[in-house]
Amino acid sequence: MLSTTSKLRLTVGAGVLSVVLVGTVALTATQRAAAIAGGGTELRVVQALLAITLLLAVVLGWLAYASLQDDLVLRGEAEAALRASEAKFAGILDIAADAVISVDDHQRIIHYNRGAERIFGHTAEEMIGKSLGTLMPDRYRQGHAAHIRAFGQAPESARQMANRREIFGLRKSGDEFPAEASISKLQQANGAMVYTVLLRDVTERRQRDEAQRRLAAAVATLGETLEVTATERSIVQLPLPWLGNGAILDVVTGTRFLRRVPATTGDGALDAALGAVAGIPLDMDSPSRVVDVLRHAEVEHVEEVTDEWLEAHTADAAAFARMRALGMRSLFLLPLVAREHVLGVLQIFRTADAAPFTDLERAIAEELALRAAFALDNARLYETAQAATRARDHALGVVSHDLRNPISAIGMSARALLAATPEEDAPRRELAENIVTSQELTQRMIRDLLDVANIEVGRLSVERRPEELPPIMERAVALFRRESAERGVVLALDPLPPLPAISGDAERLVQVLSNLLSNALRYSERGGRITVRAEAQGDEVRVSVADTGSGIAPASMPLIFERYWTVRGTAPKGGTGLGLAIARGIVEAHGGRLWAESEVGKGSTFSFTVHAAG
Ligand code: ADP
Repeated sequence: MLSTTSKLRLTVGAGVLSVVLVGTVALTATQRAAAIAGGGTELRVVQALLAITLLLAVVLGWLAYASLQDDLVLRGEAEAALRASEAKFAGILDIAADAVISVDDHQRIIHYNRGAERIFGHTAEEMIGKSLGTLMPDRYRQGHAAHIRAFGQAPESARQMANRREIFGLRKSGDEFPAEASISKLQQANGAMVYTVLLRDVTERRQRDEAQRRLAAAVATLGETLEVTATERSIVQLPLPWLGNGAILDVVTGTRFLRRVPATTGDGALDAALGAVAGIPLDMDSPSRVVDVLRHAEVEHVEEVTDEWLEAHTADAAAFARMRALGMRSLFLLPLVAREHVLGVLQIFRTADAAPFTDLERAIAEELALRAAFALDNARLYETAQAATRARDHALGVVSHDLRNPISAIGMSARALLAATPEEDAPRRELAENIVTSQELTQRMIRDLLDVANIEVGRLSVERRPEELPPIMERAVALFRRESAERGVVLALDPLPPLPAISGDAERLVQVLSNLLSNALRYSERGGRITVRAEAQGDEVRVSVADTGSGIAPASMPLIFERYWTVRGTAPKGGTGLGLAIARGIVEAHGGRLWAESEVGKGSTFSFTVHAAG
């Protein structure tokens, strides 16, 4: 097509050419006329004018021609640039991973890039001119055409397709796949509309999301226990059945041999085969691949488990036969690494009828191994801590038990010494009294240690019988009268309402109240008040000790009943941290509850319940 200026120039050129032709003919005619007629002045003037006109026309014609040439060159350059830009654009569309498909008003495909070829499986050649509906499952075709028409009328020039629901594409193979798509429109010079669909295959992303979801669900089961054996059993079950058909966990132990934990799959034959494989002893000298993975702490993916592979990694024909019976097709061997130690190897395999593992599944399997390793490590640490605590309690129990006799001998001797010392020998009496006080304190501490050890193993001796509560409360309060008076703290036993007899061990209940009162006194300032109350509540009696002391920080509340837990430094006299643990142990051995309410700066109330007798 020629531009308007070029057309103008061509017209001018043609005009000039005509003038030149006509002029030349006229000039020749006048010369002939002059030759015939003998020439007059007028004729010469006409000739001169014609010659000038001709000259002008030639110059004008030349100019028009030159300008037309320029124009043609420019146009050629512009066209070349346009072609290059189109090629570049087509190139970009072709390398795009997404499908870019343009359709006309009738939804016939007019552009179909390489991405579309890859995603849908049809070539551009096959698809140009075909309906866009070919690329979607039957059930969407009708609705989709209507959507595009509606979009053609809509004011916006682009929109996301199927914002609220999933859309699916249809591959040449007939498989459907989940997709995300957007559509844009462009009105052409002739008024026709071109729609361009940009579509992304989100199969992989969906798979990744799904795998992550399953991983999270599987891993959540790890939090259900802190026990090592239970954790191992739950680890080996984690990948089933979503990641593999079977699994075996091999754990490093304190012995030469690895502990082999087979998964339970629910398939009788496979479970039997797994059990048989778990029966093959494995140590660091075994030819098993597990040993290499333990040594190098690197994941191994055996894409094709062949007989040769099995033979190379088993010690003898019997082990080979057992491994072969698993029917493994592909296998992951994943080291369980935590705090730079390999704790074991998790083998996850798929049997012959299952698909091979994908790259995504490898990544998921590795993540699973990481979580499993942390869980196993935590369980082991917890077990070690528990064992240490048990050992400590045991040692304390033994020592306290053995100390009891010599300590009571010291007490008896000190009291005898005191009795034999005359009143006037004050310095000697004071020494003897000190020994008696210290002996009593030591004896109480030993009793506490023994109590706590017994509570721990559920062997605290509590002899319940019907008892009246008021005398028990009075005995306990009496123990602290002198000390509270000395410390300027009011100790009050509220008038007691009528109370039923309770079922309890009077000595032990005095011990509970003593522990609570001793704390209340310890954490109260001069001028404070301690109030002891009791009231019947259904078939229980509730007893409480309230103080106006320092109170307990909310963060400490869950800890105060723990054994050996004590706020260091804040207590006027450092305690052993056993008082509340023992009090709660005794109350619970009675079938009751002990709890605390407290506000920092206002005071604390400790309450417990005991059952009424009968
Ligand atoms: P101990 O008193 O020997 O430290 P306990 O088991 O009796 O051990 O008490 C545990 C902790 O609970 C104390 O260290 C203290 O911080 C807190 N506590 C107990 N009773 C009171 C109380 N009446 N007022 C304030 N804090 C208390």
